Amino acid sequence: MSAAINVDTTARADDQPVISWPKITATIMGETDGTLVINDVVHPCWAPRTDVLRTGMIARCAATAITLRRPVRVEITERGQSWSVAVRPDGIVQELDKSGRIVSTDVDLLPVEGCCRACGGSNPVTARHCSGCGTAEPLGVLAAEPYAIASQPDRQ
Ligand SMILES: [Zn+2]
Repeated sequence: MSAAINVDTTARADDQPVISWPKITATIMGETDGTLVINDVVHPCWAPRTDVLRTGMIARCAATAITLRRPVRVEITERGQSWSVAVRPDGIVQELDKSGRIVSTDVDLLPVEGCCRACGGSNPVTARHCSGCGTAEPLGVLAAEPYAIASQPDRQ
């Protein structure tokens, strides 16, 4: 028997602050290097250009959003500036206001797209495989195995 989950179906998703769990920070350093930290797990990232790097990091966040079936909040730091976005499971990225709510817009938003690292074909950030050549994680920018930030030895 599963307990009933109290879901308020009258509230639009846009009215709610985007939950800041998992805690995701994306830091872009220089033109080609970046670090994505998801709940204290560091994902070193590299791409030949900043826009490719940014799109690849968003793709990784979109994968997390897809797993959780809701938008995830991402704190981005680039060139000394920081801002927050929501990365949605459909690959759409939206700005957040100071209270963590999605800034509403009248514009029709489209999923962020990038180029496959193997064949260069365009793919949405939600693609698990390139629609052209089949490469897994076509927008992937992971440069090394993710590793956990040293956790406290006495967590019990
Ligand atoms: Zn491809």
